[in-house]
Amino acid sequence: MSVCSICDCTFDMDAEGGVNGFIGILEVNFCPTCKCGVLDFADQCRPPEQCGKCGAWNDEDDEEKAA
Ligand SMILES: [Zn+2]
Repeated sequence: MSVCSICDCTFDMDAEGGVNGFIGILEVNFCPTCKCGVLDFADQCRPPEQCGKCGAWNDEDDEEKAA
């Protein structure tokens, strides 16, 4: 069993998913929920990019989903 570095829950990496890796020199375990959250957070931290074809910004879709 692994302990999530974010929420401290205990989870089974093989059965439930999640990820183990390093951020710099820090070893981290992310449970499936926090893994999703971290990926979503990283997405939000990216600067918006404009589509070369249609001119739409890639952050516009997210706003529509949230609304
Ligand atoms: Zn977690």
